Amino acid sequence: MRIHYPVVVIVLLCCAGTCPAADIDWTKARAEAVQLLQELIRIDTSNPPGNERAAALHIQKLLEAEGIETKLLEVAPARANLYARIKGDGSRRPVILLSHTDVVMAEPERWSVPPFSGEIRDGFVYGRGASDMKGTAAVHVTLMRLLKRLNIPLKRDVILLAVADEEAGGAGARSIIENHPELIRGAEFLLNEGDVAYVKNGELQQYGVDVMEKAALWLRITAKGPAGHGSIPLEDSSVNRLLKALNRLRVWETPISVPPAVAEGYRIRAALQSDPLLRTAYANLEKSLRNPALRQKLLTDSTLNAEVRNTLTITGLHGSDKVNVIPGRAWAQIDARLLPGETPAGFIAKLRGVLSDPGLEIEIIEGSTPTSSSANTALMSAIRAVAARRDPGVPVIPTMLTSSTDSSKFRTVGITAYGFEPFKMDDGELDRSHGDDERLSVENVGFALQFLYEVIVELN
Ligand SMILES: [Zn+2]
Repeated sequence: MRIHYPVVVIVLLCCAGTCPAADIDWTKARAEAVQLLQELIRIDTSNPPGNERAAALHIQKLLEAEGIETKLLEVAPARANLYARIKGDGSRRPVILLSHTDVVMAEPERWSVPPFSGEIRDGFVYGRGASDMKGTAAVHVTLMRLLKRLNIPLKRDVILLAVADEEAGGAGARSIIENHPELIRGAEFLLNEGDVAYVKNGELQQYGVDVMEKAALWLRITAKGPAGHGSIPLEDSSVNRLLKALNRLRVWETPISVPPAVAEGYRIRAALQSDPLLRTAYANLEKSLRNPALRQKLLTDSTLNAEVRNTLTITGLHGSDKVNVIPGRAWAQIDARLLPGETPAGFIAKLRGVLSDPGLEIEIIEGSTPTSSSANTALMSAIRAVAARRDPGVPVIPTMLTSSTDSSKFRTVGITAYGFEPFKMDDGELDRSHGDDERLSVENVGFALQFLYEVIVELN
């Protein structure tokens, strides 16, 4: 720690306006965050079973050492959330820094380094959770430590939540909302995992900020029919009925509907396109998608396709375990993803129409409602201001996440939640999340730390 009294004075003075945060030793702060990231990776929190209590205790120890108020909140045996708060003067509403401490499983034989080693190679911290999302957790914790050490004057309380179980059900976030609502009461903003600073061909294209998420609706469709021997085909068997229905579902073109934030995102991106056709098409996506030829071309982009419609993916089929038995039941599992504005019940009603077989059973395995936050807020302005200082001319684009995170749970209690991790990443880096050789560059840890620090100061 290298804090001199004059430094504190400088920071206090400049934070009344736009704090350049120039007097922090960022190399040292980055080293602190990188070390914490390594330590967190070495605590194996593969979910299941999770074991996030060990990670929460580790974070708690570091924050308490700075004199920051914390609470360890039990979720289940060996599983806990960590809560911490630095108080502001209360003249503005609190902001929450949210992360999750659990990770998905890793298959060590597929990795070039042991996945729980936190080893640094060629400037990258390797390990399960490096980019999803122990890197951001380490950045949030280090940011809190800096705010406290420098005694930065705050209008908003800054709350840190490092929760369990994001990867397998969200029991950690749910437990905060249901069992400890007083800890987040009145909070206005939340920053969580989500979009990044997207790099293509070595160049920074955009800062993406997820302001909305599609909702997952996982379904099981079951057909019934007469059972029998495979040597005597039965036209109305469960398998045949299921296949006919699935074929209708497979060719169903769900209606196009462009969420406002998606339209706005493409409008901003239009100017960056080298292909003149895309430049025109993106400028007014909704209109372009009404043109049949253009629609066909645009929808070949599978990401764009998922951003403008409800989607269905058939991910599993089950009939008989024996090759010569016609089963009495056959089922398929479907991963449907719904746009904001759609409800599970409304979507299932449309689905029934498409399947056009009233004998089929549709069962919800898991379902939630899509959520969104306004893209025009003080938090977005703060992100824009910092991005403009760091990378003038690079647009900040509101985006929609086609999967889902814990942000959705906090939006439903009225908090503006953005998915934003300012790591400069290209597709290759992004693909390592949940994949093999997951990693995060030391440079990115430092960049995100300084970026988010400035956002919090700007917002206050
Ligand atoms: Zn995650």
